[in-house]
Amino acid sequence: MNKYLNFINGEWREASSGESVPVTNPATGEVIGMVVQSTQEDVDAAVQSAKLAQKSWRLVPAPKRAEILYKVAYLLQERKEELSQTLTQEMGKVISEARGEVQEAIDMAYYMAGEGRRLFGDTVPSELQNKFAMSVRVPIGIAGLITPWNFPIAIASWKSLPALVSGNAVVWKPATETPAVAQGFVKIYEDAGLPKGLVNLVNGSGSVVGNAMVEHPDIDLISFTGSNEVGKQINERAGALLKRTSLEMGGKNAVTVLEDADLDLAVDGILWGAFGTSGQRCTASSRIIVHEKVKAELERKLVERIGELKLGNGLDETVNVGPVINRSSLERIDEYVKIGQAEGAKLLVGGRIATENGLNQGNFYAPTIFTDVTPDMRIAKEEIFGPVLSIIEVKSLEEAIEVNNSVEFGLSSAIFTADVNRAFQAMNDLDTGIVYVNAGTTGAEIHLPFGGTKGTGNGHRDSGVAALDVYTEWKSIYVDYSGKLQRAQIDNN
Ligand code: NAP
Ligand code: MG
Repeated sequence: MNKYLNFINGEWREASSGESVPVTNPATGEVIGMVVQSTQEDVDAAVQSAKLAQKSWRLVPAPKRAEILYKVAYLLQERKEELSQTLTQEMGKVISEARGEVQEAIDMAYYMAGEGRRLFGDTVPSELQNKFAMSVRVPIGIAGLITPWNFPIAIASWKSLPALVSGNAVVWKPATETPAVAQGFVKIYEDAGLPKGLVNLVNGSGSVVGNAMVEHPDIDLISFTGSNEVGKQINERAGALLKRTSLEMGGKNAVTVLEDADLDLAVDGILWGAFGTSGQRCTASSRIIVHEKVKAELERKLVERIGELKLGNGLDETVNVGPVINRSSLERIDEYVKIGQAEGAKLLVGGRIATENGLNQGNFYAPTIFTDVTPDMRIAKEEIFGPVLSIIEVKSLEEAIEVNNSVEFGLSSAIFTADVNRAFQAMNDLDTGIVYVNAGTTGAEIHLPFGGTKGTGNGHRDSGVAALDVYTEWKSIYVDYSGKLQRAQIDNN
């Protein structure tokens, strides 16, 4: 039986509690291993090792730090298939998507390794003669990373790589559901020769380990991705300690389909966005906002194509839709379908737990579409995090934008139209951190900022160069070489 341990100060260790819990394959119900359950004591040990390691790491020139990140990229590439198989087994997403996710970590490793020779600040003219002014990025110290199960390696790469290249140490708590991929990733940091203590892995529950990290006085920042409920709690507790938090939370993403859209293309984008990863992406398409003139045709095409999606174990290359993460998630999704029916939405297809052909061994939900949904219904407002899509009819672009923006989240949005003027109008008015034109709501690339407005985030961004703002402080430096006292704002006026 596999046992997923902690990695603290360069050693693989048991948790101080001596306890562990099972990790289950969501497609088959099989237990694939046991993960240790850490306590405050383990978090303390991780922080201590991080603190010591960071003291010398911050002095290593960033291009030298980056050389290790290049090795991380090579090793990720070498182990891509192995990591992808592990990912599918513990998390459920189909193997092609798992490979895509590992590729995202590879891309991020190359990108952040490149940052080692940039980490740009500014040099600007001083307002005084014989004075030089510049800004530089400096590391913050120890970054506490708390990550969800739905993108167990991609999100961890978005956070740990920029943290490390900019000179921080890391204490990482992965989701309880996905310790195997976490172990595989940390093993790569170890094998790449990252000095001990710079990446520490502490497995355990959010309420114990996550909480201990948030409250720990020596963890300088928390970068969290997960639910709004937990993000809000973290923000409150960290706020009281004046600790920086970067929060990436839920979404209720919509695809707008105008009457001039290429409907077949829209259907491709919608099916991929809504049912890829079984709808368990923060950027999943969960609402379709469609012009009344093309609603019936779009529905007909969607229902036809949804029948072609094959449910099953994601290791089977012919499967399109894998399981959802666990039993309670399956039940929550089913509960939302009942809520939708009670609210008067019309079920077009799906709406049931799938149990045929052995699917009952795992947690499978049939891809589901509701139509005649109105924006005030709960299924149109709340994040379901499963393969459930709601169709809302509108009469104009203006109404579509209003509906798109009416939810509390602001992660991603998409519009299908052939009209360049209306596309630009939408780019301007859609209130989300990510906008797609003639593509679905998923498919972010790692060199652009990733994150959302309103209830989705707190203004920070993962990924892209913007991620460096989470893991660095700005230091402004003035060098006066005039040899005399020069007072800004006074002596030059
Ligand atoms: P979650 O329940 O909030 O868990 C996320 C992480 O926080 C897990 O590691 C969890 O640990 C930990 N945690 C739980 N309670 C905690 C606490 N009191 N203090 C500190 N940490 C705590 O979210 P999830 O169900 O795993 O993931 C789904 C959610 O993530 C969805 O809302 C989705 O939209 C969001 N998401 C957002 C993005 C984005 O970039 N915007 C990307 C992906 C996912 P344990 O679960 O191990 O106990
Ligand atoms: Mg959870």
